[in-house]
Formats: sequence, C-alpha cells, structure tokens
Amino acid sequence: MSQIDDLPPLREVIRRHDLRPRKSLGQNFLLDLNLTARIARAGGPLAGATVLEVGPGPGGLTRALIAEGAARVIAVERDERAIAALGEIAARYPGRVSVVAGDALEFDPRPHLGDATGPLRIIANLPYNIATALLVRWLSVAPWPPWYDLAVLMFQREVAERIVASPGSKSYGRLAVLAGWRADAKILFDVSAAAFVPPPKVTSSVVRLVPRAEPLACDRAALERVTEAAFGQRRKMLRQSLRTLGLDPKPLLAAAGIAETARAEDIPVEGFVALARQLADREPA
Ligand code: SAM
Repeated sequence: MSQIDDLPPLREVIRRHDLRPRKSLGQNFLLDLNLTARIARAGGPLAGATVLEVGPGPGGLTRALIAEGAARVIAVERDERAIAALGEIAARYPGRVSVVAGDALEFDPRPHLGDATGPLRIIANLPYNIATALLVRWLSVAPWPPWYDLAVLMFQREVAERIVASPGSKSYGRLAVLAGWRADAKILFDVSAAAFVPPPKVTSSVVRLVPRAEPLACDRAALERVTEAAFGQRRKMLRQSLRTLGLDPKPLLAAAGIAETARAEDIPVEGFVALARQLADREPA
C-alpha cells in the first residue's frame, strides 16, 4: 500500500515537525501503511464509530482509522510537537479528528463523546511505559459495562501474554484476572520490532478486548485486594499468602470452595471472584 489519503507521507510529517522519537514518551512510530490499516481493521467495522486513540504521534494510525471509515477520532497526545502535525489531519477532515493535548492517564473521554450514536472504540499503538496503567484504568471504568464496546491495543508481547494468560501459566497474574473478569481478551497478531521507527527491543502484539456485558458480580476493590495478596506471594499456599488481608484465610477459602493448599496461579477468575465476595461480606462496607 503506497497511499491511503492525499496527506503528505509520514516520514515527511516527522521531518517537518521535528518529531525525532523520544524514549521518555515511549515513541516507536509505525510508518507501514499496511500495518496501520491492519490494526484499524481489527477494530472494525468502523463506519459510524467514534474512536479514542491514545498517542497518535505523527498520525499514521489516525489516518488509517479515518480511511477505514471512523466517523470521529478523539486523539489524545502528550507531545506538543505532534499536536501541530495532527492539526493538519484535523484540518483535512473537518469535524472528524479532535486533537486533545494532554496526558491520557488523566483523560476521561466521556464528556468528549457528544451525541455519538455509533459504536465507541479504543484503538491505539500505546506508549509502553503507561500501557498497563491505561488498560487497568479502562478495565476499571465505573459504571460497567463501560462506554466502549471494543478495544484494540498494541502492547509489548510479554504484557500481551500477561493479559490473556490462563491459570497454570507463568504469565498468569493480577492483570489476567482483571482482564479475564471484565473482558474477553485475545492476541490477534504479533508485530516485529523492525516495523517500528525506532525499533523497540522486543516483539509487540495487538490485543483485542471485548468488555463483558455482565461480568460475575463482585466488588472490584475487593478483587484487587485478593489478587494483590495472592500473587504478592505467588509461590505460597493461599492459606499463607492471604494472611496479608488481615483476617484468617481458612474460613474465607472454605466458604469460597477453594483448597487451603492451592496457590494463586491455580485459581481461575471465578475462584478469585468467590474469594472477593467472601472478603467483602466479612468487612464492613
Ligand atoms: N500512534 C503512533 C504510531 O503508531 O506511530 C505513535 C505510537 S507511540 C508507541 C506512543 C505515542 O504516545 C507517542 O506519540 C507519545 O508521544 C504518546 N504518549 C506518550 N505518553 C503519553 C501520555 N501520557 N498521554 C498521551 N500520549 C502519550
């Protein structure tokens, strides 16, 4: 694919706006139009959709999202240098690209959605230094179901594996429990380091998350506490590791139907939910 629109090539945009990649901002740009189109399509169909894109940088993925038919892209970018570049895309597609200068960790898109009637999505090649924090934030949205119906996100492969991990695997931990509780998560495809400018040290993966309409009922804070205690000492038996909760773990485990001798990595999401419910029941609200 040599062109998806009549805007200048990304390399020229980067040169003109002096967008030399900064490590501190997790800047690894995607200039391959086939790849940006593939990521946009993974979040599709986009006709009529409003998309939150975190870290658009020079705008390669932003342009792919528009080319795939997104009605509107809300692009949140922290790097001032990129804001001018993104302004050119916004000018080319009036009303379809809203550029927000700021920190995505502080950004709540809900007041910006206006009267959007189509699907709401998150599609992004995330800055790796805040990727997990952003995902946890999006999985912790209240009320649930969240404002988005699909998220397609690029992570380092190792983080992607921690998101989709099953019990018994080395990657299974707090992130997998939170993601598995609230969403159906799947690795769609890997992206080699060579696809980025500059290339990161590791392979990346695109992950699709579909929020569950009705996750098993439980208090999110209690679930967090249980998984923090359990995986904080993952090699220990739960009757030992859960002591950090400040109560006797044995009755808690018995009521949740979990063996005292089990270890955190053996317990499926449903088990942690049962433990979180028992914990919430035993503590004053
Ligand atoms: N989407 C572009 C692409 O695919 O070529 C750039 C992706 S690059 C991996 C991550 C982008 O996130 C950079 O443009 C960086 O400036 C931006 N960024 C870093 N920290 C951010 C933050 N806290 N809030 C918003 N954007 C941030």
